[in-house]
Amino acid sequence: MAEVIEGRLHGGDPEPSEGTSAPSETLDQPLIELSGVEKSYRMGRVDYRALRGIDLQVAAGELVAVVGPSGSGKTTVLNVITGIDRPTGGTVTVDGRRIDAMTEEQLAVWRGAHVGVVYQFFQLLPTLTALENAALPLDFARRGSKGERVERARHNLDRVGLGDKVDHLPAELSGGEQQRVAIARALANDPKLIVGDEPTGNLDSVTAGDMFELFNQLNGEGKTVLYVTHDLGLARRAHRIISIRDGVVVPAIAVDT
Ligand code: ADP
Ligand code: MG
Repeated sequence: MAEVIEGRLHGGDPEPSEGTSAPSETLDQPLIELSGVEKSYRMGRVDYRALRGIDLQVAAGELVAVVGPSGSGKTTVLNVITGIDRPTGGTVTVDGRRIDAMTEEQLAVWRGAHVGVVYQFFQLLPTLTALENAALPLDFARRGSKGERVERARHNLDRVGLGDKVDHLPAELSGGEQQRVAIARALANDPKLIVGDEPTGNLDSVTAGDMFELFNQLNGEGKTVLYVTHDLGLARRAHRIISIRDGVVVPAIAVDT
């Protein structure tokens, strides 16, 4: 079995790896740590290497943008962090847990409780109201009584400014409002980590800016937020930009080229 993390990830390391603003003390173990992460897909006779050794760390409380050309591996990186996808090499540690070593069953439970994911196309269930969509993860986790779940979902819809539309179906809401419902759903189990895969990619620029403000607000309330965006303006408003190209992390300076 792989070593279990005891806050001594860098124990045998004689010199600190790179300077920058990375959390320096072992006490400040990063919330997310990817080390040498590989992801290969079998394509006929050859392996296609979508991720070729991703090393990255995100500290608790950071607001981080992930950028890179289409096909560079951004979604795959998010998916190995949320446990939707499994790496073919390397280690993924989130909040002290080795995600890559979990079984599917463990992952499903872990994901439901520890991470909220927001997608480009909202992915709401069309026959459920905003309130019912926002309560879904609570229903899956069987958290609290039905009444408590409804109260909690209502509170989260309030937080995203949709308190007056709880009974609307997704089709009765604008794109921006639908994405707010998706964010309320992501908040359901009060996860430390919110992950967005191009969450503003289907919104006009004003609505996208509002959505960013919401992420910013949640970050201010203590959530760690990681989002993929093609919008460099929105990327620059993060604390930090992680730039991915051809399945590796490259210096963020390359973003401007
Ligand atoms: P991005 O989100 O940056 O656009 P992705 O992470 O979705 O990129 O994909 C990275 C690369 O991996 C792409 O070349 C893509 O075609 C490939 N890929 C992603 N998923 C699969 C899959 N299930 N099977 C084969 N190749 C895949
Ligand atoms: Mg993608």
